[in-house]
Amino acid sequence: MTDFVTRFAPSPNGYLHLGHAYSALVGFYAARRHGGRFLLRIEDIDLGRARPEFEAAIYEDLAWLGIEWEEPVRRQSEHFSIYEAATAKLTDVGLTYPCFCTRKEMLSAGATHGPDGLVYPGTCKELNAPDVAARINAGEPHALRLDVEKALARMEAPLFWQEEEEGQVLANPAAFSDVVLARKDVPTSYHVSVVVDDARQGITTVTRGRDLYEHTAVHRLLQALLDLPMPHYHHHALVTDDAGQRLAKSKGSTSLRDLRAAGYTWQDILAALPPLD
Ligand code: GLU
Repeated sequence: MTDFVTRFAPSPNGYLHLGHAYSALVGFYAARRHGGRFLLRIEDIDLGRARPEFEAAIYEDLAWLGIEWEEPVRRQSEHFSIYEAATAKLTDVGLTYPCFCTRKEMLSAGATHGPDGLVYPGTCKELNAPDVAARINAGEPHALRLDVEKALARMEAPLFWQEEEEGQVLANPAAFSDVVLARKDVPTSYHVSVVVDDARQGITTVTRGRDLYEHTAVHRLLQALLDLPMPHYHHHALVTDDAGQRLAKSKGSTSLRDLRAAGYTWQDILAALPPLD
């Protein structure tokens, strides 16, 4: 038994497709190879989109693929207070600010598209304290953003993360602009919950798709600010369809349960995926 710990962290807002199967299998096989542990985490902070039937289907699909995970499974919606406490630490040292902007307002302020949605044009950073207080007191919905420039100014040296195969990668969180730490509708965001949970669960190697490679820069910055351990990263290749496009729930890529219903076996799935190491 080594101290290798990895995880698969799906969001239960749709059925899993071949890309998820690959991601889960890469992590599971890596844990097997290292004599380590494989954990499952349900990333259900998006309360409007997460559904119990999708979560149930995740367990069914993974079991069908022969994947075994440790119980209990961590469900993010049960830990909002921990994520809030992490963000509060950053607020206490002046690194966050409330943002009232709607998507429409950001677009009309000239926001461009970045690696993680809109690049925030910084509108609310300019608001003065009495205005902010008045809007909050009036109950106007607001998110909390990280002041990335201020946060980077606190770093004593450039930030790097350790990527399997590539080695050290320079983290460039500024490309994301001031990321959201707490959304308007829930008191956390993907970035905060993922770094807090990777630390809480003792993850030593994060295995996930290449689509999240750039996001690691933000995660590295949050780890540094929150004094969290830095796991290694393995961003695996993405599974593509016949046209070379990456699979996505939003594009209606065929789900594992549909493939199963159509008579495919788990062996067929494995044979259709890229190599697992
Ligand atoms: N929940 C994320 C997703 O389903 C994955 C997060 C991660 O692996 O860091 O895309």
